[in-house]
Amino acid sequence: MGIDEADRPVALVTGSTSGIGEAVARRLAADGMRVVVHSRSSAEAGRALAAELGGEYVRADLEVEEEARELVATALARCGRLDVLVNNAGISWPIPHDDLAAASPADWRRLMEVNLIAPWVLCTEALPALREAPAGGCVVNITSHAGVRPKGSSVPYAASKAALNHVTRLLAAALGPRVRVNAVAPGLVDTPMTRDWVQAHELWRERAPMRRPAGPEDVAALVASVIDSGYLTGEVIVLDGGLNLT
Ligand code: NAD
Repeated sequence: MGIDEADRPVALVTGSTSGIGEAVARRLAADGMRVVVHSRSSAEAGRALAAELGGEYVRADLEVEEEARELVATALARCGRLDVLVNNAGISWPIPHDDLAAASPADWRRLMEVNLIAPWVLCTEALPALREAPAGGCVVNITSHAGVRPKGSSVPYAASKAALNHVTRLLAAALGPRVRVNAVAPGLVDTPMTRDWVQAHELWRERAPMRRPAGPEDVAALVASVIDSGYLTGEVIVLDGGLNLT
C-alpha cells in the first residue's frame, strides 16, 4: 500500500521546467515529496514534468504580484499543505560592470522584481502554511555567489541576490523555530541561462579546484540536504567548486 497523498510533504519549486529548478523538482520528488512545478510560460513542459513526478503544475508570471500570490493559493488549494518553498526562478543577463548606462533603471526594476520582490511575496503568502508544516516549514532561496562577492553577470543582478541573501538571514531570525530560511548561492551552473557564457565556463574549468562548473544536480543535492537539516537556518551556502579559494 502506498503512502496517503495527504501525508507527503509538499514543495513548491519556482521556475522548475528548466535548469536548476527542474533538477530540484526531480530530486525532491525522488526524496518522496509531492512537488508543485511552476513556470512562467512553458505550460506543456510543466504539465509533463508534474505528471512524471506525480505532482502538480501551476503557471504564473512572477513579475505580476497577483499571479505570484495566486501561485501559492493554487498550490495550497490543490495539495492542502505546503512544507517547502524553493525560490529558484530568477533572471540574469550580462551587463559590463563598468558600463553604468547599460544597466538602466528599467533593468534594475525588472531584476529586483523577479529576483527579490517575488520571493518576498511568495514567502508572505506561504508563511501561514509553512508555520503549520508538521516538521516545520522550510524556505530555500537560490541566490548566487555574486550576492556574496563583487562579481556576477551585472551589478543589479548581484545586488538583487545580495539583498535576497540578507532577507534570508533576517527572515530566519524572525520566523524560527517554526520556519527555517536558508540560501544556496551557486557559482557558475551549466544551465540554459549560462550556456553561452564561454569565458565563465573557461574560468571554472581552469581555476576552480573542482575544474568544472556545477551541474544542476549538484545544486539540487545541496538543496535537498538543506531541507533535510532540521537545525540549519539563516545560512547562505556558497556552492562554487572552490573558485573563491583562487
Ligand atoms: P533558467 O533560466 O534555466 O531558470 C530560470 C527559471 O526562472 C526559468 O524557468 C524561468 O522561466 C523562470 N523565470 C524567470 N522569470 C520569471 C518570471 N517572471 N515568472 C516566472 N518564472 C520566471 O536558469 P537557472 O540557471 O536554472 O537559474 C535558476 C536560479 O539560479 C536563478 O535564480 C539564477 O539567478 C540562479 N543562479 C544560476 C546560476 C547559473 O550559473 N546558472 C548561478 C547562480 C545562481
